[in-house]
Amino acid sequence: EGQNNLVMCRELGRDYGGQTAVSSLSFSLARGEVLGFLGPNGAGKSTTMNMLSGCLAPSRGEVEICGIDLLASPAQAKAHIGYMPEHPPLYPELTVDEYLRFAARLRGLPRRRVKAAVETARERCGLADVGHRPIGQLSRGYQQRVGIAQAIVHEPALVILDEPTVGLDPNQVREIRALIQTLARDHGVILSTHILPEVAAVCSRVQIMVRGQLVFESPMAELGDAGEGGGRLKLHL
Ligand code: ATP
Repeated sequence: EGQNNLVMCRELGRDYGGQTAVSSLSFSLARGEVLGFLGPNGAGKSTTMNMLSGCLAPSRGEVEICGIDLLASPAQAKAHIGYMPEHPPLYPELTVDEYLRFAARLRGLPRRRVKAAVETARERCGLADVGHRPIGQLSRGYQQRVGIAQAIVHEPALVILDEPTVGLDPNQVREIRALIQTLARDHGVILSTHILPEVAAVCSRVQIMVRGQLVFESPMAELGDAGEGGGRLKLHL
C-alpha cells in the first residue's frame, strides 16, 4: 500500500455555511483504475471533483496525490492532476492549438516542450485534423474532446472528469466513452456521473454517493449485470 496509490483521501469534507455538501470521504485509487462516483444531482460529486483537483479548499480532511500532500504542496501535487470541470472554460474564438498551448503553459510546461505536448494531446483525443479550427465552430462532441485534451496535455498520472458525457448525443457519448477507455491505459481516471450505464461502460470500480456520503462501493466485476438493467446496484440507489 502507499507506493501504488495515485490518490489517498482521508475524511475529506466540505461545508457551505452551515450546510454539509460532502461529509467525510475516505478512499484510495490505484494505478490502472477507472473510478466512477455515481449519484443524483446535489449528491456532492462536483464538490468532490473540485476538491480532489485542488480547485476548492476542503473544510476538513487530507488528500495525497502520488504521495504528495495536495493541501500542503498544491503546485507539486497539481502537476500530477488533469481536470476537466463540468463546464470547462473553452474560449470559442481560439483555435484548438492556441487553447492547448495556453493550457500547457498554464500547467507549467516549459516553452520548448509545448509544441510536442500539444500535438500528442491532440492526437490522443482524436483532434489531429482540427488543430487550426476555432473551438466555437466544433460540434459539442469535439468540444468535449478539447476539454479532455487540455486535461492531459501535461501527461498527468491522474485524470479527473466531471460528468464527461452530459449534454452529448448518443454517438458522441459512445465516442467520448471510448476515448476515456483509451486514456485509462496510461492514466488513473476518476469521473463523476449521474447515469449508471456510464459507470457500467467505462469504470473498473464504482462509489455511490448520496447526500454527501459514500453509501456503497464495489469493483464493477462483482456487480453482474450492472450494464444491463442495474443488477445489484439498483438496491443501493
Ligand atoms: P450536480 O451534478 O448537480 O453538480 P453534484 O452531485 O455535483 O450535483 P454538488 O454540485 O457538489 O453536487 O453540490 C452538493 C451540495 O452542495 C448541493 O446541495 C449544493 O446545493 C451545495 N453547493 C454546491 N456548491 C455550493 C456553493 N458554491 N455554495 C453553496 N452551496 C453549494
